[in-house]
Amino acid sequence: MPELILKDLSKSFGPTEVLKNISLEMSDGELLVLLGPSGCGKSTCLRLIAGLEEADSGEIYIGPRRVDHLSARDRNVAMVFQNYSLYPHMSVAKNLAFPLKVAGVGKAEIADRVEQAARMLGLSEKLQDKPGQLSGGQRQRVALGRAIIRKPDLFLLDEPLSNLDADLRGRMRREIVRIQKQLGVTTVHVTHDQAEALTMGDRIALLNEGRIVQMGSPQDLYRRPASLFVANFLGHPKINVVTARMYDGMLLPFGLPVPRVLLDGKIENVLMGVRPESIEISSAGHYAARVVSSEYMGDGYVIELDYKDNRLTVSQCATPFGEGEPVKFSVERQSLLYFDATSQANLSAE
Ligand code: ADP
Ligand code: MG
Repeated sequence: MPELILKDLSKSFGPTEVLKNISLEMSDGELLVLLGPSGCGKSTCLRLIAGLEEADSGEIYIGPRRVDHLSARDRNVAMVFQNYSLYPHMSVAKNLAFPLKVAGVGKAEIADRVEQAARMLGLSEKLQDKPGQLSGGQRQRVALGRAIIRKPDLFLLDEPLSNLDADLRGRMRREIVRIQKQLGVTTVHVTHDQAEALTMGDRIALLNEGRIVQMGSPQDLYRRPASLFVANFLGHPKINVVTARMYDGMLLPFGLPVPRVLLDGKIENVLMGVRPESIEISSAGHYAARVVSSEYMGDGYVIELDYKDNRLTVSQCATPFGEGEPVKFSVERQSLLYFDATSQANLSAE
């Protein structure tokens, strides 16, 4: 049985339709990343699930229970926000114990569960410290601890890592996944960061302007994006998009045989998507281009090429090249994507 079901959820604020017919199902223990640009409705969606906001229409089920008419406190859902707030005058132990105390849990069990949560979160040595004595990452872990200690049916995380520096963010991603798997709590994790979504999600639901535009595994969305929007949103550096033209039975600018989808569909304007890691600069390459720029990225160079007036970004190059230098490159054909320039739909998806 699915653990969370959203059926046709819609929500407006005044004249603005913020969520439009959101439907999804999550299985028990799954980690779903709700991804999308700022303002697309991610937080509103979480707030509807948590009961902090009421939907205009639609249904929400947690396990077998329909919960959309229940108050927030009756839904057994825990939420962690970007701007988590701990009680500054209370020790870590008291901060962790607080939700249990409010819920009327007995003293002995509180002590047990605080100790257990602290162990899981690596906070055992910090239980007597005040939040002011902790690092940013430790404070964030206490905030997570305070949410999981109630053993919620559902765990909702709204951009909990946005305030952390890059290094810590990377570690906390892995930490959250580890804790989530260990507890087995069904979790919706909201972020606008595509890398976070790709690394953390069992599945990703990509939201744009209040609609789910695609839902699937990270690999699905990356390799088989439903539309140009999805292809553009995932991946860094961004996917290359070039205008394709059919000429003399060939598809320009790469002079490839015209793929079947394009022959059958009678599509006039086609855009071709080429991932930066699908292009390789080497003397054995088929195509000749000029180097526009080289940028050092630590794990390699990102090279900008000019190929017949198309700009192509190439990632993961071992060596830099001089500006204006002529080079040869090849393209991994099976990873090319084709989009209808008008509808922006992925034509190669079938
Ligand atoms: P996200 O979390 O994806 O950045 P939000 O769900 O916070 O997006 O907001 C989506 C849209 O709804 C935004 O345009 C925002 O201004 C609007 N919005 C959110 N909450 C309210 C509110 N309480 N009243 C009016 N407009 C709101
Ligand atoms: Mg938000």
